Amino acid sequence: MIDLRSDTLTTPTDAMRAAMAAAEVGDDVYGEDPTVLALQERVADMFGHEAALFMPTGSMSNVLAVRSLVQPGEEVLCESSAHIVRAELGAHGAYSGITTRTWTHPRGHVDLEALRALHAPDMGPFFVRTAAVSVENTHNFAGGTVLPLDLLRDLKEWATGVGAGVHLDGARLWNAHVATGTPLVEYGATADVMSVCLSKGLGAPVGSLLVGSADTVAEARVWRKRMGGGMRQVGILAAAGLHALDHHVERLADDHAHARLLAEAVGVDPAGVDTNIVVLTRPDAAAYVERAAAEGVRVATVGPTTVRLVTHLGVGRAEAESAARVLARLATDGS
Ligand SMILES: *Cc1c(COP(=O)(O)O)cnc(C)c1O
Repeated sequence: MIDLRSDTLTTPTDAMRAAMAAAEVGDDVYGEDPTVLALQERVADMFGHEAALFMPTGSMSNVLAVRSLVQPGEEVLCESSAHIVRAELGAHGAYSGITTRTWTHPRGHVDLEALRALHAPDMGPFFVRTAAVSVENTHNFAGGTVLPLDLLRDLKEWATGVGAGVHLDGARLWNAHVATGTPLVEYGATADVMSVCLSKGLGAPVGSLLVGSADTVAEARVWRKRMGGGMRQVGILAAAGLHALDHHVERLADDHAHARLLAEAVGVDPAGVDTNIVVLTRPDAAAYVERAAAEGVRVATVGPTTVRLVTHLGVGRAEAESAARVLARLATDGS
């Protein structure tokens, strides 16, 4: 089986497991795990922010990041297929009392004109106030698209001008960095608070980081514990993250090349495939998934007529070529 359902499906390599086994650990709720502290400091520095906090999941990281900018009863604006509104099961409403309004862009990009129209200033006790804008880079459900840096800069400038915070869901920001060569610190400068994942293309088994100011991180630390996310000798997982940062960032370029190869096989224009995700439409997505699985390729539906292919650490060149042959054959069968 070649598994293209998600880049979360990677399992730790032998070298990563060795790094985990050798990790120096302590109780992280006491702030005494040296490996966690090293990871947090390294990631904060990478993005030019003051501090970072190791989190069990990207979803929890997003929830705490957004709530650092938005009070209960206020709103965050985001693109309509953003992970925070599609795939976090309403967490921002359920836990933080936050409402959302959205703009729609076929590639998940920032639309400043739409944002200006949506933005609601504080008008007293009549209307919901816009407290923040959230952007996703790369944009998962839009097909791993990279948000243009100049648009992110314009957004930050505009948002700061109107007193709104900017949250960056950078679950796959590493992919955007490798695809464009944009320094991570440049992306960091376009957000007040951000979240990055180690458990996607970087291949760690667990872990995300919330990145922001020292105050934001101190407050998020309280909320993480309050929500039951205080972890103990978790350096064993942070070690996997440090190993991934050393060894699995530059290789994302291979995943991007494999995604373009798959795109060509399924009739999607590879020029529109920015990173490691290919989204295709099929009349019956569920039937397509079954046909592909019967031929040894696992893919996933992300809607009734949309299918997603994701390349990752567990798919080498030979597997990508073999999956491309299978999917090209399905295409000629009319599946
Ligand atoms: C995977 C993902 C997350 C976080 O997911 P978890 O499974 O909770 O770690 C957040 N944002 C995006 C865009 C993602 O793809």
